[in-house]
Amino acid sequence: AEEEPVQSGDSSRASVILPARGGEVTIHGVSKSYGQLKVLSDVTLTVPAGSVTTIIGQSGSGKSTLLRSINHLERVDDGFIAIDGELIGYRQNGETLYELKEKDILKRRVEVGMVFQSFNLFPHLTVLENIVEAPVTVRGIPGDRAKAEARELLVRVGLSDKADAYPRQLSGGQQQRVAIARALALKPKVLLFDEPTSALDPELVGEVLDVIKELARSGTTLLIVTHEIGFAREVSDLVVFMEQGRILETGTPEKVLGRPEHPRTAEFLAKVL
Ligand code: ADP
Ligand code: MG
Repeated sequence: AEEEPVQSGDSSRASVILPARGGEVTIHGVSKSYGQLKVLSDVTLTVPAGSVTTIIGQSGSGKSTLLRSINHLERVDDGFIAIDGELIGYRQNGETLYELKEKDILKRRVEVGMVFQSFNLFPHLTVLENIVEAPVTVRGIPGDRAKAEARELLVRVGLSDKADAYPRQLSGGQQQRVAIARALALKPKVLLFDEPTSALDPELVGEVLDVIKELARSGTTLLIVTHEIGFAREVSDLVVFMEQGRILETGTPEKVLGRPEHPRTAEFLAKVL
């Protein structure tokens, strides 16, 4: 049987379990094009610290581009994205008003963890090595401490017996839970999930969603792109519907998923539900 996830009330584990404080995400007037294709159009959204926001919308609507922009993997053409009020850059009408240097952007990227559809674990490293790699090399955390914290994270995602396994020896659901532990090891202020269960066999989806639900209760700011509408309804403070690079509707799950105002939201939900 798998171990119970650690409760966030257990203060003996607070160093690992509690998220970094803060984690408010401000997205203001963000636009982004690839050549002639406008992928994000004037996107504005505030994600309060400690809240859970899910982003829904058809394939190609710009959801992944928005997440990558929050993680500073994409440079936006217009507008700004700030974490706890701190900007990476700010452009207006194509003019750069403010921009951090590349090495400072790299430092700030650590504040935002990302979990992808395709786990992306290092195949030649064990589970434990996958988790400690970034804390040791990026954060400069001593190896022994990083390993102790990694073992606590493995308890939290229900994989304490898999520390020495290699990714190929794990199911997709287990690999994705390792990827979540690896993202948490950097103690991000914000955690982004890009369709975290889309590559999984249906019977493995639930175990990954359960880990994300536990994170949602622990107060980490989460932004989740998902097609799992039932999960979105259960876990979200805010649901965002995107189409063609625009936010068409934002609100509580009861409103956006239950009583959508925009006809396009209703059409989308009729297709995926
Ligand atoms: P979603 O995640 O909602 O499916 P994406 O953000 O991945 O949408 O993509 C939005 C649009 O941008 C799509 O039309 C996609 O083909 C295009 N796109 C994404 N990344 C690139 C890129 N690096 N170069 C060119 N076009 C891209
Ligand atoms: Mg996508």
